[in-house]
Amino acid sequence: MKALTDKEIRRSFVNCSRSEALAMTLPGSLDDVPWDEREFLGWRDPRAPLRGYAVWWRDGRSLGIALRAADTSMSSRSAAMCLLCQSTQTGADVSLFTARRAGEAGRNGNTVGQYICADLNCSRRVRTDIPPWLQTRDPDEVIYERATALQTRLDGFADHVLRAT
Ligand SMILES: [Zn+2]
Repeated sequence: MKALTDKEIRRSFVNCSRSEALAMTLPGSLDDVPWDEREFLGWRDPRAPLRGYAVWWRDGRSLGIALRAADTSMSSRSAAMCLLCQSTQTGADVSLFTARRAGEAGRNGNTVGQYICADLNCSRRVRTDIPPWLQTRDPDEVIYERATALQTRLDGFADHVLRAT
């Protein structure tokens, strides 16, 4: 993805107030982000541990979604799947996140839930956690397909958050 600046990140959020967007903790150094290997920038807020954020480019504009993790986590002995990158991990590494819907629906308390990697690092995982049954294929092709699928699911999630009714 194209690199984001602090300003582009803060003004990208569709489901939180301006003051919430100003108060959030941005990820460390944006210069260190491997943008070529990211479909979205995802991070947890170090000062508000249940909060998480996902920002990416859609139709040439930065789009951000503020997320809240469930305060109970699943068991590390069970397996769970992230619905964005579709990697299977222990239950403890996948969280149920809720996103307030945009606009009036959100102000009325409407949310959308999604199981996502707890660290929101799906872009790295589509490149590094290749399931064994795909490892016989051309790695570049596999990563391309997984990254494209991640992007599609992310946009589908955003559609739910943005949908007016
Ligand atoms: Zn994931």
